[in-house]
Amino acid sequence: MRAPGANASSAHGAGRAARAAIEQARERVAALAGTKAADVIFTSGGTEANASGLWGAVHGAADAGARITRLFVSAIEHESVLANAAALTERMAGLRLETIPVTRDGIADVDALRILLREGKGRALIALMAANNETGVVQPVAEVAQLAQEAGALLFVDCVQAAGKMAMPSADYVSLSAHKIGGPQGAGALIVREGAPFAALILGGGQERRRRAGTENVSAIAGFGAAAEIAALELPSADRIAALRDRFEEGVKRIAPETEIFGAKVMRLANTTNFALSGVAAETSLMAFDLDGILMSSGAACSSGKVTPSHVLRAMGVGDELSRCAMRASFGWNSTGADVDAALESITKLLARVRTRAAA
Ligand code: PLP
Repeated sequence: MRAPGANASSAHGAGRAARAAIEQARERVAALAGTKAADVIFTSGGTEANASGLWGAVHGAADAGARITRLFVSAIEHESVLANAAALTERMAGLRLETIPVTRDGIADVDALRILLREGKGRALIALMAANNETGVVQPVAEVAQLAQEAGALLFVDCVQAAGKMAMPSADYVSLSAHKIGGPQGAGALIVREGAPFAALILGGGQERRRRAGTENVSAIAGFGAAAEIAALELPSADRIAALRDRFEEGVKRIAPETEIFGAKVMRLANTTNFALSGVAAETSLMAFDLDGILMSSGAACSSGKVTPSHVLRAMGVGDELSRCAMRASFGWNSTGADVDAALESITKLLARVRTRAAA
């Protein structure tokens, strides 16, 4: 039997091989995150890592007799952070949710957080992502870590989007997802700094040192480890990817100067662009790009066919009308200049069609 099919808790040879594959992956993920292997808890993905981290921190602190009473969450966090923070504060008596606003460039407002922290009393947990998944805007995690330290607060950093694309921050809790670094879907990790309060969200067997029960997804975890090892080596290729992204944005601006590029003035991940072709609804752009074989996403949340304006753009003060035109493109290790040219050609054709229709 090959290791990925075996249960890592079994004592037979195949089980031991599965266990070795998991522990090797743990070392590789820890190396990517700049942490100790023992701090890495494997999960089913970024969503579970975020849920587990937030619930685990709040309940772990309560168990240790040092209750968290204030939960600060930036307005641009991923839905998995926002939804869990809201549910936690609804269900946990004495825990208050406070939102950290962002600037028009999409950066968490550190001065506003400083004032919020000063105004109230009680132990705080702060959730701030390392980089935003919609705009790519890099967040001031080091400054917030400093504030957290001064205020005796705990810090949770969603690194799902940032991992493998920038140096990892140090925090009490960090979340990662395998499929965002080129690994398989179905694996992720929560990293809990040694000594940080934590109570397991998923109870049952003794896996992951009782911090996350359930038979491990051995093959996905092994794939996560391999992807983490490669991602660490690929950090230097960010400049090449940023050059492609910049070439794309310059091209779009040439074709349609009125195009809005969100977060363009501040530090962003190399791979992300979020732009709005004004007057062209995202659904129209999506369809046109899809027909030309170009894969993009709408910048707005799309569920059950209904496009709702993005909470991230809204927090940045972008009006809903413009937000409904927002598109997101990602560039990766396999993107080429030819891909950029094809996307620009597709935009030229799309705008020509839209303008002809408007004139008719
Ligand atoms: N956090 C961020 C910033 C994300 O971009 C995502 C996914 O897009 C998640 C969390 C959720 O991760 P997963 O898809 O592994 O559940």
